[in-house]
Formats: sequence, C-alpha cells, structure tokens
Amino acid sequence: MLITNATLITWGLPNQILEAHALYLADGRIAEIGPEAELAAHHPEAERLDAGGQYVMPGNICAHTHFYGAFARGLGIPGPAPKDFLEILQKLWWPLDKSLTHDDVHASALVMLVDAIRHGTTTLIDHHASPNAIPGSLDVIAEAVEQAGLRAVLCYEVTDRDGPDRARAGIDENLRFINRQSRTTNPQPRIAATFGLHASLTLSDATLDACRQVAPDGVGFHIHVAEHEVDEYDSLAKSGLRIVDRLQRHGILGPRTILAHAVHVDAREINLLAETGAWVTHQPRSNMNNGVGVSQVESLMRAGVKVCLGTDGFSSTMWEEWKTAYLLQKVWNRDPRRMSGVDVAQIGVYNNAALAGMFFPDARLGVLTPGAHADLIFVDYHPFTPLTAGNLPWHIIFGFHESMVTATIVGGKVLMRDRQLLTLDEESIAARARELAPAVWERYQKLVPL
Ligand SMILES: [Zn+2]
Repeated sequence: MLITNATLITWGLPNQILEAHALYLADGRIAEIGPEAELAAHHPEAERLDAGGQYVMPGNICAHTHFYGAFARGLGIPGPAPKDFLEILQKLWWPLDKSLTHDDVHASALVMLVDAIRHGTTTLIDHHASPNAIPGSLDVIAEAVEQAGLRAVLCYEVTDRDGPDRARAGIDENLRFINRQSRTTNPQPRIAATFGLHASLTLSDATLDACRQVAPDGVGFHIHVAEHEVDEYDSLAKSGLRIVDRLQRHGILGPRTILAHAVHVDAREINLLAETGAWVTHQPRSNMNNGVGVSQVESLMRAGVKVCLGTDGFSSTMWEEWKTAYLLQKVWNRDPRRMSGVDVAQIGVYNNAALAGMFFPDARLGVLTPGAHADLIFVDYHPFTPLTAGNLPWHIIFGFHESMVTATIVGGKVLMRDRQLLTLDEESIAARARELAPAVWERYQKLVPL
C-alpha cells in the first residue's frame, strides 16, 4: 500500500518532518520512505491511500493500562467517598474486579480497544484482574485484541488478597499465557505476554518467590510500586525493606520488568531502578485522581531510570496524558521551567517505543523508518505557526487533540479510515457493554464494604 499526500513525522533520532513524502507498506512493515513522486514511480500498481494532506506519524503507545476498569465509568461508590488510596482499592477496584465474568472481561476490553483505535493508540500494555474468572481470562482479552487488530502486551495480576488458591490460579494463568505466546509458531504475533503482580502490599514473600521461581528466563514482571505511602509502610512492616529493595531481594527487578507509578520511592530505590534497568511508568491523571502524590519524574530521568507514560485505565488519549504530565510538574514545583516538552516526548515517544519494542523485537516500533512495523496514524492538524521537529512537542501539548486522529493502521492493516472503524462494530460493542454493566454494578454493590 502506498500512502500519499502526507507530511510525515518520523519520531526518528533526530526527528524529521518530511513534506511531500510517501510511505510504501508491505508485509506489515514500512518498506520504503521517500519523496512522493519517486515512490509513486517505483510502485505504479500499488493500492493508494490518500492522506489528504494530513500528518502521518507513528501510533501512540500506552505503557500501563487496565482494560477491565471500563465499567467503573458511571459506577456509584456507596457510602462515604473513599478517603485515601487504600479505601479506593477496597471500595472500588477490589469489589469491582471480583464482579467480572469472562463476558464482562471481553466486553470491557472491546470498549477500551474501540477507544484506543479512535484515539490513535496502537500498542497497549495491559494489567488484568478478575479474581472470580481467572483461568482463560487472558485468552478472552487476546481474542478481543486480535479482533480489533491492535498490538498488546497482556498479564494477570497475581495477589494474595483473595487467598492461596486464587494466588496460584493467577500464577498459572500468567504461565499458561506466556507459554502460549512464546511458541515459535505464535498464531497471534501482535500479542505478547509478561508476568503480572498486583503490588507489594498484597504479595507475601512466599508468593513473590513462587512467581520468581516459575517465571521463564527472559520474562519480566509488571507490578504497581509505591503508588501511595501505604505500599511502602506495608513493605517496611513485612520485611524491614522499602519496596524496591524488597523486590530486588526477590529477583523481581531487571531490564524486562515494568514498575507502575513509583511515586514514593526514595533516593536509594531510584538508584536501584537505574542499576537494574527496570522501567517505570508515569500515570499523572490517575495519580491526581487518587490524590496519591506526584512522581518525581525528572529526578528519575536524571538518575538514569527509563520512565514511560501510561493511562492506568483512563481513556487511551496519550496526548491528554502528555498535557497532564507537562502541567503537573510545573504547578507542583511552582516553576514553569520544569518538565519541558522535550522530556514529555522522551517518555511518551522514545521510552514507550523502547519498552513496547522489547515485546515485539522482530521490527522497530514507534518510528517511521524502513523495516519498522507499519503502526501509523493520520492527524488532521492545521498549525497556525510553522511546525518543526524542534517545536513539535509543544504543538502536540497545546494544539493536538485525539479527535484529530482520522486513521489508525497497525501492522499495515487499516483499523480506522476517515474516522470509520473497520474491524470493530462500535455500536454493538457499546450496546453489549450497556447490557452487562448493570449486572456487574449489582454484584459490586453486594461486595463493597460500607
Ligand atoms: Zn495501574
């Protein structure tokens, strides 16, 4: 397929804005990039996709999310509002995840995948929980991702909060899915697996050791870390160690492990993160909503930690997350020089691409270059001032909106064109979700502690 009439944003190093250039896609990859006249002459027979003068750029990547949280939208929490993070877990997330059946898991995943395609997010790293429907839950999500045509990394969050049988079931679900996706004949090459853990505060030493023991070589973990002080206090009480030290002792850290949040880590923990090469994901909208504090993103980056950007179950609107990350550090530090647009692009583009790329190593992700995965979006943006490689981060922060995404392509397959979804039936997915959500809410109401 030949994409013509486009201005390309490559997100290469250095980034380039290429006017009157075309992309030739073949076998799910970007085969060639060049001046339009030249490429058109090389491939006269190719199917054409006219970008109508729009920007064409790599699809966005979300480094941490929860598809299963979709039905929380509109859900009323009975009794007094949760007063802190632990109560948010106890009164919202834990009774909600217990209320999910496989049907609900499937429907909530589809809802979130519609949202991702519409908003130009082409790769998502999910963290799943459904304690009353554990075995096979990752297959159910994988089926939805496969149908959507997106790229995803899946895991099940192991936890001791529901007893030893469910902890074991969580471990088994991760292992089963990891083995399934690591076969050399993996039938779903756009789906990868990692090993999920909930958070230090719901994991015993024995369970951490059991996970470490059974996780295959080369597989990392995906876990929440120090989202709120309560996680650190719990770790100190249980082990005498701060969380990152505790995870290090149990062999959980390493260059394939993802730690979500890291809001309350201390200087030594930051050094450990840098030394072990673990990834940290930043979710400023979630942190603000839960009132858990502000991650010291710049300090983490200065210490050499690889910081990425996720949504934590918020809408897959990555530029919204960019804007929040950019604004939050300025008001928190009361200094408008903090968190430059270049830093936001570093985490939201380059680091996210490096993290996601680890799971899909057969070609590059998040960059327009020959040989890379053809994961692209079209953006209908008309700048009032010249857009350059240098000022692009600020154009995105102050000018771009996800509603400007008109086409989404993954692995060379068009998932949305002229804002029309081609792989998913949005209307019937929404109708099915509206059918299921009230029953989930009813089960939730019976489980929620007052
Ligand atoms: Zn999370």
